[in-house]
Amino acid sequence: MKTFSDIANEGIGKLATYEPGRPIEEVARELGIEDPASIIKLASNENALGTSPKAVAAMRGAATEMYRYPDGGAYYLKQALAGRLKLEETQLLHVNGSNEALELLGHVFLGPGANVVMAEYAFIVYRLIAAGCRSDVVSVPMRELTHDLPAMLEAITPDTRIVFVSNPNNPTGTMVDGAEIERFMDKVPDHVVTCFDEAYVELLPPEMQPDTLRYVREGRKVVVTRTFSKTFGLAGLRIGYVAAPAECISLLNRVRQPFNVNAMAMVAAIAALDDTEHVANTVAMVRDGLDYLEREFLDMGLSYVPAVANFILVETASAARPTAGRKVFEALQRKGIIVRAMDGYGLPAYVRVTVGTRDENERLVRALRELLTG
Ligand SMILES: *Cc1c(COP(=O)(O)O)cnc(C)c1O
Repeated sequence: MKTFSDIANEGIGKLATYEPGRPIEEVARELGIEDPASIIKLASNENALGTSPKAVAAMRGAATEMYRYPDGGAYYLKQALAGRLKLEETQLLHVNGSNEALELLGHVFLGPGANVVMAEYAFIVYRLIAAGCRSDVVSVPMRELTHDLPAMLEAITPDTRIVFVSNPNNPTGTMVDGAEIERFMDKVPDHVVTCFDEAYVELLPPEMQPDTLRYVREGRKVVVTRTFSKTFGLAGLRIGYVAAPAECISLLNRVRQPFNVNAMAMVAAIAALDDTEHVANTVAMVRDGLDYLEREFLDMGLSYVPAVANFILVETASAARPTAGRKVFEALQRKGIIVRAMDGYGLPAYVRVTVGTRDENERLVRALRELLTG
């Protein structure tokens, strides 16, 4: 008798299941902790300041309207984004978290025989999308855990359809700047779509934000994906957007679900765009938190990867301290602190820590000191 796996598409059974940051309630149940509020989660790069208050107010106001289907064209959201980003509404698409954008790109551009070019330690979802579309991955070594764009150019083959650039990159917390991107764009062949995944871009000082939207306005083969999950604090709602030339948006539109983004998410996202105070507070908290964590890691003799977004890779294993990242992840979890183990990414010596509030960061540092020196 055939099994489901026999019937399934080739290679699906061999895919690793994505291991997300563990939910607080799940860890509380497992550890038998009565009060989930005593657990802190620094594992999914969420906004430690919480949901945008303007978004909360807007959602309260919209709660009674949820018997209606959402606006499948996301008119008001696109209008709000177009004005801010100086794009046409036809150059924008609303998506159910930017992960959906990556999947839509797969549906449109990938298939058997095609490949995607990505950096070795770039966002792992690109691999899952490629595998799901039965395409190959060309995995390009990084330089100091940073995208090596010249090497990625070299790695492009006639079968390459998409180059993914996660910028800033999760999980390494590094980025490539506008000048490096410009040199890449000068040489990238015409048969390739370059996707800049900019999930953290709003956290960068404006002068550090590469102007990739310019390529969209110029009609280059560029797709920019962004999200409300991180800086705007709406990860639970699942909403993001794509900026790309209109022809590309039109193709992506054909493969999405008619109501891919829910009505509550759109209401919240529009309000969050206006919440400049929440964004400014978030940026300030992240800068301050990164400074603090880097100082403390140095003081503990831990190496880390200098970070630009709201998370940092810290190396917990070394000759002097042979403590693998997963061990540290487990030990911290027993102390009610959830971080992310990195062995799934091929970085077993590290844990990834999301920048939290001052209190959360201090708790993490105390726990790390106990673990590593005790
Ligand atoms: C968090 C993240 C995303 C966004 O995910 P959503 O689906 O929008 O929640 C996309 N890319 C990278 C690199 C990320 O870290």
